[in-house]
Amino acid sequence: MIVVMNSGASQAAIDRVASEIERMGGRPHLSRGEFRTVIGIVGEEVTIDQNHLASLDGVEKVVPIMKPYKLASREFHEEDSVIDVGGGKVPQVKVGGTHAACIAGPCTIENEQMLWTIARQVRSGGASMLRGGAFKPRTSPYSFQGHGEPALKWMRACGDELGMPICTEVMDTRQVELVDRYADAMQIGARNMQNFDLLREVGKTNKPVLLKRGLAATVKDWLLSAEYVLSQGNRRVILCERGMKTFEDSVRFTLDISSIPVLHEWSHLPVIVDPSHAAGRREWVGSIAAAGMAAGAHGVIVEVHYNPAEAQCDGPQALLPERFAELMGQLRQIAAIMKKEFA
Ligand code: PEP
Ligand code: MN
Repeated sequence: MIVVMNSGASQAAIDRVASEIERMGGRPHLSRGEFRTVIGIVGEEVTIDQNHLASLDGVEKVVPIMKPYKLASREFHEEDSVIDVGGGKVPQVKVGGTHAACIAGPCTIENEQMLWTIARQVRSGGASMLRGGAFKPRTSPYSFQGHGEPALKWMRACGDELGMPICTEVMDTRQVELVDRYADAMQIGARNMQNFDLLREVGKTNKPVLLKRGLAATVKDWLLSAEYVLSQGNRRVILCERGMKTFEDSVRFTLDISSIPVLHEWSHLPVIVDPSHAAGRREWVGSIAAAGMAAGAHGVIVEVHYNPAEAQCDGPQALLPERFAELMGQLRQIAAIMKKEFA
């Protein structure tokens, strides 16, 4: 349910509505739009007296949200959400609305030297954020699992020095405190999209969360996962379409281009695309990235390596630095047509 306030509603009226919602056992979530404030109610709706709320000062109307995801829905927040990533020692990068971002870097951080080399390369190629895995979800338990905290330290130093916010994956509730300490954005990987305890845990932080779509999740499942984070108070969710499992086996995963306009209609949250994990091969990464931007994505996350043949993880899909720079030039042009601009 949402309470839509009059455009001129006072702060006192808003506070009164919020405290009445709490008294009835609900949790109020404020969304301040350009013209009016909307108060979302999360909790058991049976206990909410709709008529009482409608009679309060400053209330225009009380309407039920039909979608199962409430705070992620367009009804709750009419305008596109713009998420700020970074700040402090690194510049703040905006994602959402007219703001597009490019997150680039290696799949995994193999050692300190390679991270610095690739970070410099993607920086000069036009990336606005640095990616790299310190904790890796690998299909085989015998594959390289990531360097953990040392890799987070290298990444932090690199981001600070080069002026790029850093984005890295958190795989387990026990790592959230640690990753939160170093990262500017926390990635929830595809395999963890429905790890509800992990979603709740990152929801208790105030860090932007890059929520990848699960391998076999519908858009609705995905938005309900976003809702887990939002309902804990963390409103900084960025979605990432990275391809699904389908019967098609020419590519690693099938990037669902249509999810982008669907999300745009159903939700206010920004969405970026990951052409690297979808393609599985560098030759196809550019086309998929371009298609994603043309469909209205708010940016891309791309894997880059200067020596893919020797990469410890995902070498075949890593772009060479020169190709990455060229692709960024193309994506900037598509973004401009779509009335977006890369940071
Ligand atoms: C990654 O970003 O390296 C990764 C493992 O992504 P996903 O969870 O989408 O497979
Ligand atoms: Mn990868």
